[in-house]
Amino acid sequence: QLDEPFLVLDLKENEKSLFHTVYTKIGKECPKLKIIVATYFEGLRDNLQTAVSLPIVALHIDIVRYPEQLDEVLNTLPPKLIISLGVVDGRNVWKNDFTQSLQFIVKAINKIGSERIMLAPSCSLLHSPCDLDLETNEKVLIPEIKQWLAFAKQKIAEIVVLKYLALKDNMGNITSKLNENISIHNSRKISKIIYNEEIKQRLDEITEKDTKRENIFYDRRKKQYRSLNLPLFPTTTIGSFPQTPEIRNWRAKLKKEEITKTEYNDFLKKETKKAIHWQEEIGIDVLVHGEFERNDMVEYFGEQLEGFVFTENAWVQSYGSRCVKPPIIFGDVYRSNPMTVEWSKYAQSLTKKYVKGMLTGPVTILQWSFVRNDQPRWQTCMQVALAIRDEIIDLEKAGIKIIQIDEPAIREGLPLRRIDWENYLEWAVRAFRIATSGVKDETQIHTHMCYSEFNDIIHNIADMDADVITIECSRSQMELLDAFANFKYPNEIGPGVYDIHSPRIPSRDEIIYLLEKAKEVIPAEQLWVNPDCGLKTRDWEETKKALIEMVQAAKSLRKKITESVLL
Ligand code: GLN
Ligand code: ZN
Repeated sequence: QLDEPFLVLDLKENEKSLFHTVYTKIGKECPKLKIIVATYFEGLRDNLQTAVSLPIVALHIDIVRYPEQLDEVLNTLPPKLIISLGVVDGRNVWKNDFTQSLQFIVKAINKIGSERIMLAPSCSLLHSPCDLDLETNEKVLIPEIKQWLAFAKQKIAEIVVLKYLALKDNMGNITSKLNENISIHNSRKISKIIYNEEIKQRLDEITEKDTKRENIFYDRRKKQYRSLNLPLFPTTTIGSFPQTPEIRNWRAKLKKEEITKTEYNDFLKKETKKAIHWQEEIGIDVLVHGEFERNDMVEYFGEQLEGFVFTENAWVQSYGSRCVKPPIIFGDVYRSNPMTVEWSKYAQSLTKKYVKGMLTGPVTILQWSFVRNDQPRWQTCMQVALAIRDEIIDLEKAGIKIIQIDEPAIREGLPLRRIDWENYLEWAVRAFRIATSGVKDETQIHTHMCYSEFNDIIHNIADMDADVITIECSRSQMELLDAFANFKYPNEIGPGVYDIHSPRIPSRDEIIYLLEKAKEVIPAEQLWVNPDCGLKTRDWEETKKALIEMVQAAKSLRKKITESVLL
């Protein structure tokens, strides 16, 4: 099997013809080799001809992500080519709907005969947790929800069952498995824990007004300038401070019930207090509370929102050797209680400077979870957006003047085909705007994005209308800023001035150099000074040294500008 998901992208003519060249060569040199080409995550669409004309034995297609392609593929298939039907979702955690899969399989059998059909998961099972049987704690994953799920091991079993069902081979009492599957899916449709009429109605009632701040940025800016009274080149950080072994240790002890929640919170309060005082001491302008209470920027919110469930062992690879345990969104999402207000209020009570409220945005929460498959993703995203909106309004009520909503995953949600980009970007931006538009003009909304290229989505980013955006920028030596400069991005920007992935301490001069470079393309009064991203993976020693350099660099630039005006 050769994996060629490239075949579901928008291809140029020369790329298409390369497929012929390469596969013809492989075919000539290894005439006895039986090759399967696997495509997934999208449909072949205009690359169908290229795929079916390759000298291969079998072609795998993704029927979960793009069921629309089945008819066309069946009609186009050359007489001997075998088709592998990816009917079981390899990218999500839900039990397969046998009734629906059988419709696809039977259609294919009727058209080309069962000898030329293989069954498979839609894609590699790398993206799926291993084994649902390992989830034995019914308090963590309640049986009602567990019965709706299938992880890698269960997905393989589903494929075998589908085979016998499709062949009408009643081996091992297979029809009872179909009946069981039907009743499980019916139970999901009428479950009392999934649906919440109130939130559905709230979604229906969203108006244009709910997606807009009271006034345009130009007017908000004046009000914020007057009320916040920040210096030129205001300094800030992206949110998290080092998650030290000590913090992790306390969290583990709480989980094992070796300490009480009060003891744990008292410890976190001490850490927060130290962080606030230290930021004051070195002269940062807009402070953060440090996010010590958060295990993960999505999990922390999922744990407090309704509609989410967690597992004990459902780890999947994120990148390299890193793994994550994404929450599962099984039902309508809503907020029953404030999630971050107490921590923000506590941190703000310790200082006269502004402490930023810190939230994860609706698109990132969606993107980094396993999402329910019984309604469109955008609908789930809007529910999360409303929950975040309520949280932002509560933060404002609690006296928080600056609130940051992180959206690092906006770009990674982009569909694979260009033609589908606008639709996604439209609802992603709308979700952000719904979340952030419930506050007064004076309340300053920040957003943060990292690992991103901005050129081709800059107008959508501008459309988010955050008062300030902080971005990862140092590794590209400020080149990512060009997108904002060319677009004449009107709102404020904090291009990251040092790389938080490296333990290296940036020198004051190099930060000044980067800021001077930024100042050449973005007016100085629009610029903020901050690191590329949160500092949770760094240790305190590096963090302290680096931030001192950053604050001093900003001060030196301020001085230079003041002097140039005066002299
Ligand atoms: N506020 C988060 C933090 O500082 C942002 C993390 C991210 O962008 N990935 O950790
Ligand atoms: Zn980041």
